[in-house]
Amino acid sequence: MASSELIKKLNETIENVPDFPIPGIQFKDISPIFLNPKLYEDVIAELAAFSKGKIDAVCGIESRGYLFGIAIAVALEVPFILIRKQGKLPPPVISEKYDLEYGSAEIETREGQIKKGQRILIHDDLLATGGTTEAAAKLIEKQGATVSQFSFLIGLKDLKGEEKLKRFGAEVYHILEY
Ligand code: AMP
Repeated sequence: MASSELIKKLNETIENVPDFPIPGIQFKDISPIFLNPKLYEDVIAELAAFSKGKIDAVCGIESRGYLFGIAIAVALEVPFILIRKQGKLPPPVISEKYDLEYGSAEIETREGQIKKGQRILIHDDLLATGGTTEAAAKLIEKQGATVSQFSFLIGLKDLKGEEKLKRFGAEVYHILEY
């Protein structure tokens, strides 16, 4: 559980932008966190403490999942694996297709970077509907690894993303919940 001081500081720092990128969405802009190195360090310490001793590798979801994900992996001295949108990584890749509100999308990792039997943390900045995170978990499981944990800076509880992740039987953590 994050300290109330960290939660307060993050709440003061993250900007809520109404009607972006489309009307009705309140966008959580985390970029001001990176203006404050001490706050960034405290966020990494908090997220690293959640995963310490429990994972063998971190998978970060493009692109904001890299902002904290790599630093978590470095702090815990474990590998970091990029999950990217289709067509960005050179072959050979392993892919997972998933449905969006309109149409579908695909995410990929480079073949061989995830090892069989590894305990994986999936990290992203924010959990909304959970669609992307669920696809990331399937992508990891089909490579013979285990999804042990999910972590996010922010969880949006009304969108019920956490329910989608339940069936993976992994721990879920977010520092802030709205
Ligand atoms: P989802 O697949 O619906 O859980 O979407 C998660 C991704 O969308 C995250 O990587 C976020 O970066 C982004 N996202 C969704 N909703 C918001 C929001 N209200 N503010 C900022 N980013 C968002």
